[in-house]
Amino acid sequence: MNKHTVLIVEDDNAIRNLISTTLEIHNYDFLVAQNGKSAIMLATSHNPDAILLDLGLPDMDGVEIIKKIRTWSNTPIIVISARSEDRDKIDALDFGANDYLTKPFSVDELLARLRVSLRSQNNEKVASSIFSNGDLKIDYSAGCFYVNNSEIHLTPMEYKLICILSQNIDKVLTHTFITKAIWGTCYDTDIASLRVFMATLRKKIEVDTSNPKYIQTHVGVGYRMLRV
Ligand code: CA
Repeated sequence: MNKHTVLIVEDDNAIRNLISTTLEIHNYDFLVAQNGKSAIMLATSHNPDAILLDLGLPDMDGVEIIKKIRTWSNTPIIVISARSEDRDKIDALDFGANDYLTKPFSVDELLARLRVSLRSQNNEKVASSIFSNGDLKIDYSAGCFYVNNSEIHLTPMEYKLICILSQNIDKVLTHTFITKAIWGTCYDTDIASLRVFMATLRKKIEVDTSNPKYIQTHVGVGYRMLRV
């Protein structure tokens, strides 16, 4: 099996060493950058399979790096942020980051997020008109939705919502991203409506809505559909 190459962008020596050692033990190839400028250079020259990006870099805003890389590449980007950079984290997701880790993070968490991102990258190439995930099935061309092979009636909003989540499976979608996709706007009232539609959708797809299996809530950030 080909090794995956991961670009680590982190100016903190201790964290960078922790990440690179972890990746080495788990059989990944890696490249390291200590600032934004070399991150963009390495991303361009090596086209890595995934990027772990610290948001607080000495020379450049992490969000600027994402914007640049996204002009030519869809490679998964997982941002690593400090708690104080919560707003930056949401901006990073809005500008195309796939996922985030908050410092301090565990090595297991890092590896798990990386596996998910690499898997979604591989699956992106097989676009299909039928989506299935556990007991859920969507026939995009017919506009039909099924749970356990029986068709479930969704309102147009619920259907839009499940389509957006399924088409971005494994990715954390911010409130702004989702409300813009549904209504074209992102007012506070849209986010409140989104919560309502999410609640009614969950009742139709989750066995236990207090312990959802398909749609994860990221408090203050947004939602993610998990592959089950
Ligand atoms: Ca930093």
